[in-house]
Amino acid sequence: MAGSQYEQVLARLREASEILKLDPGIFKILAEPERTLEVALPVQMDDGRIEVFMGYRCQHSTARGPAKGGVRFALDVCMDEVKALASWMTWKCAVVGIPYGGGKGGVCVDPTKLSKNELARLTKRYVYAIQSIIGPEKDIPAPDMGTNAEVMGWFYDAYSVLTNTFSPGVVTGKPIPIGGSLGRREATGRGVMVSARELLARVGKSAEGMTCAVQGFGNVGSVAAEIAYQMGMKVVGVSDVTGGLYNPAGLNIPALVRYADEHRVIEGYSEPGASKISNAELLELDVEMLIPAALQGQITEANAANIKAKYIVEGANGPTTAGADKILEAKGVICVPDILANAGGVTCSYFEWVQNLQHFYWSEEEVNTRLDAIMSKAFKEVWDFAKEHNLSLRTGAYMLSINRVSEAIKMRGIFP
Ligand code: GLU
Repeated sequence: MAGSQYEQVLARLREASEILKLDPGIFKILAEPERTLEVALPVQMDDGRIEVFMGYRCQHSTARGPAKGGVRFALDVCMDEVKALASWMTWKCAVVGIPYGGGKGGVCVDPTKLSKNELARLTKRYVYAIQSIIGPEKDIPAPDMGTNAEVMGWFYDAYSVLTNTFSPGVVTGKPIPIGGSLGRREATGRGVMVSARELLARVGKSAEGMTCAVQGFGNVGSVAAEIAYQMGMKVVGVSDVTGGLYNPAGLNIPALVRYADEHRVIEGYSEPGASKISNAELLELDVEMLIPAALQGQITEANAANIKAKYIVEGANGPTTAGADKILEAKGVICVPDILANAGGVTCSYFEWVQNLQHFYWSEEEVNTRLDAIMSKAFKEVWDFAKEHNLSLRTGAYMLSINRVSEAIKMRGIFP
């Protein structure tokens, strides 16, 4: 599998660049990340043992601003994955027009196997190892899979101590009392549903009673499911790592969210009419809208033909492979791509950073209003561009964002 995830990104970059007739020199720049850093992180475990974890940070592009993107703690983290995720951040920030480039980082670790103290030491050692390339004006990490606000709090503290500065703007997704933004936790799921709402408005469909399935019940999926429920959708299926639940009459999402908040997983939840399904079955449910909000590589050439949803709104990064795209397109499925649909998280991270730099904090309502405005404007731009050129929303979103990054590179010129 080595090389495969970055290859997926390159396939899309290549396709959009060909249609754009992009300058081959600019393509060469965009095809290679600007900087990668691999670090070995020794950590003293609670029992006195020393473990060494491998850490990574990749800055794909800083043409439009400092690199921006999350830190992932998971066992499959490797440089190839980090590179793919970093370049998606470049396109994501460009598509919503926020002044950042793209970056991503991670540590190859199963965070559930570490104590809180071990996790804090690992995080701080990671910050120490990458401190020279990050900073509020250079590269601003954030949460991703396996990390959360608490980890970002340690991150912020370690950087500030190491540099002897007050630097809340070095990382976003922090706890609210130490410079986090109201609305940040919900922002990705909220943005997914702004995209869904804008899509339905354009295809002339009402959310009321529309059937929907959500894969993933973490930060993104649970919030998306809750908002879908509030919009009147019938959320008939949800799943997480422990498996899925299906209720043709519609699941009681508020009850499920309360359960998941308490138990961290949906396993063990039951309600009348609900039955267990697998993650694979969830994707193939007979629903109108599918929201993959878990891992990458879920909709592939192997199952794309069985997908029954007419609309896919991608909450995860890279849930659909390039091969699956072709099959879905031929079936007439409309897919709102990840780089647009899940950009609400990084958009709110931008708000957090702006608030940190100004030391002036906004109300949750202000955050949500601004988020909605940026997401709906980006949706409109992608939709109009794709319609005008008769392209899929994904290709349209890539073309728009590649254009923006390429413009920035040309305007700045090649150094020296
Ligand atoms: N990890 C999130 C993403 O993939 C958020 C990144 C950020 O806020 O910088 O979009």
